Amino acid sequence: MIKIENYVVRAIDKNKSFRVFIAKTTEMVEKARKTHDLTPVAAAALGRTITAGAMMGIMQKNEKDEVSIVIKGDGPIGGITVVAKKNGNTKGYVGNPRIPIELNEAGKLDVGKAVGTGKLTVIRDYGLKEPYIGQSDLITGEIAEDLSNYYASSEQQPSAVALGVLVDKDLSIKASGGMIIQVLPNISEDDLGLLEHKISVMTPMSTLIEQGYTPEQILEGLFEDMGMELLEKVPVDYVCDCKRDRIEKALISVGKSELQDMIEKDHGAELTCHFCNEKYQFSESDLVEMINSL
Ligand code: ZN
Repeated sequence: MIKIENYVVRAIDKNKSFRVFIAKTTEMVEKARKTHDLTPVAAAALGRTITAGAMMGIMQKNEKDEVSIVIKGDGPIGGITVVAKKNGNTKGYVGNPRIPIELNEAGKLDVGKAVGTGKLTVIRDYGLKEPYIGQSDLITGEIAEDLSNYYASSEQQPSAVALGVLVDKDLSIKASGGMIIQVLPNISEDDLGLLEHKISVMTPMSTLIEQGYTPEQILEGLFEDMGMELLEKVPVDYVCDCKRDRIEKALISVGKSELQDMIEKDHGAELTCHFCNEKYQFSESDLVEMINSL
């Protein structure tokens, strides 16, 4: 039996007044760190976004639906992109994976400073002609607050988001996890008050994961008095599904004159996948064929 290391649990309370997603993502964030050779602050920033993405991916309805989180701030990390699917496959990259370590006043990795101010965009691709796009301002650049603000301002969906990545002394990922709580319209004042109190006194997610708690145990510990029903448990992983034909499509989309340029100047083209760093080579004759197909 294959051991499921990372997964997301989805649960709802007995009054159907709020739903909860809890993720353990330590190994998948470590995979991302190794893939991109991330420094600790870059690993924390991408790790938090991947963790959120994995949960948001699972929220989607159809197997082929894809959700992207694109964070564009003016900080040195130069942007964060994460793409997640319903099946738990999640991938991402940052503009500058080697930004130096910076600590904030609390002695923690300063993700907010690395990200800076700017916009958070969520793109939901349902395989239709036009994807659904929502956008909001970055509040702190710490990702969790920014997503919570996004849900409130762009989707009118009150949500509490907690994300945490703990980097070990050897720079590997020690613990990573997250939680999204979404309040449903029929919630009572009492339940809402109780929920807000629980969130305000909650132990950080990365601490709980580091202490060895599973998502089920975290769910039980936090909401045991609210009658939670566990709806599903979905394995999540860092997976890039890039294929040559998709990279080829992207290359064709640059247009005839650009392709002609590549033939004349470089006698070919090499494209690198941003998500997994796989290199794809296209020869002069490949490019000629592309031009002829246009
Ligand atoms: Zn790839």
